[in-house]
Amino acid sequence: MLELADTFPDVNVQSAEYKRLLGYPTERVIEGRARELSDWARNWYTEHGRPWVYARHSNDFQIRNDAVHIDGALFSSTRLQGLLQQAQAHAAILVAVSAGQELEHESQKLWHEEKPDEYFFLEVFGSAVVEHLTTMTGARLCAWAESHGQGVLPHYSPGYPEWDVAEQPRLLQVIKHRRNPILFDRLEALETGMLRPKKSLLAVFGLTRHLQSMRKLTDLVPCESCSFLPCQYRRVPYQRASVPLDSEMPAAQVASIPIPAASIPALNKFANYSVGMKALQRWSQERLALNHHADGTIEAVFRYDGTTCTNMGRSLAFDYFVKLGRREQGYPIQDQRCQPAPGDTGHTYMCRYMNNAEHLMVAIERERPLLGQPLNDILSWQRTNDPAGCYCEPSSRKHKWGLVLETIHYALSQQENR
Ligand code: SF4
Repeated sequence: MLELADTFPDVNVQSAEYKRLLGYPTERVIEGRARELSDWARNWYTEHGRPWVYARHSNDFQIRNDAVHIDGALFSSTRLQGLLQQAQAHAAILVAVSAGQELEHESQKLWHEEKPDEYFFLEVFGSAVVEHLTTMTGARLCAWAESHGQGVLPHYSPGYPEWDVAEQPRLLQVIKHRRNPILFDRLEALETGMLRPKKSLLAVFGLTRHLQSMRKLTDLVPCESCSFLPCQYRRVPYQRASVPLDSEMPAAQVASIPIPAASIPALNKFANYSVGMKALQRWSQERLALNHHADGTIEAVFRYDGTTCTNMGRSLAFDYFVKLGRREQGYPIQDQRCQPAPGDTGHTYMCRYMNNAEHLMVAIERERPLLGQPLNDILSWQRTNDPAGCYCEPSSRKHKWGLVLETIHYALSQQENR
């Protein structure tokens, strides 16, 4: 049974990952004052940071009654359960990583001293450390699993989509049960689910002996989002930093390929949208690009421009990518994704980003409402009206997905009516 505790883990955060979290595009060089601050944060952490990681094999692991049971505690995440079931997981590795209390204390000090730039860079470096510790712990688990004929699944954490962050205290309780009191004295979970220090992460990595099922389903292979480039066990290339959207595609460019007339109505022509027709018309012209392929599938790219609700209302931009199946199938949503637009830095000023960048970005990246459903389902999709400009809350992210899908629905309806 695997157990590891490390109070001197590697914190050599890759520059590319740090830059990504700072919101810089890959090709941009950090220069001037920003360069000074980013180096300063790294150096400060190297000198003063006290990171640690802990991982252990579960003692008891079962999936029953629609819940995952680990060492006597019940977790009700449907996404985690689905992942573990698909891969026929037989056990879990429980992991806690932390950038340490020192960084949190220093950040608070900087904030009170009214040094927002230093605060920002140190906070982001803290997030980068947490990501790095999680990646490197995952790499250690992968090496151990390979030597035991097993495979490690992508990690999952409370606060990710479909795992209520309120279960975080329970997970911490299970991980630290009778273990390493010195380490765990440095970490607590508040009732709200927040961790203190906040630059920390709890995670469950599933273990499977069915390597064949991992190979068949790329969702079960963690390598795609693992930045440990020298790994000798890698199964698929690292894709996290890649930009799947065609950022060169000009907005407001609707391809003129005609849609073949068909007798089956694919879209409700009398749709009752939640957004006014004028707004839909403008957005479909200014923000949406539709690309019709010869096989009948469609790729849609929507640019969202907004501002953060706090932190001086910084502008932010996100790109939404939606792939639709053929018209005669009812335009099923085959793929959908949302991510900061190339070059956007505004998203790094959102409160939840400053608090825990990993949680927020994973939630944004993985939320795929209505995936697999026909586009018409947007008209009956129940969601609360949350027009906040930022992406901090699930309700505001859903609200934006609603706007995007309604705009696509509207644009395609207009094309069909022509
Ligand atoms: S690349 Fe894949 S196998 Fe290697 S450490 Fe990362 S997740 Fe594990």
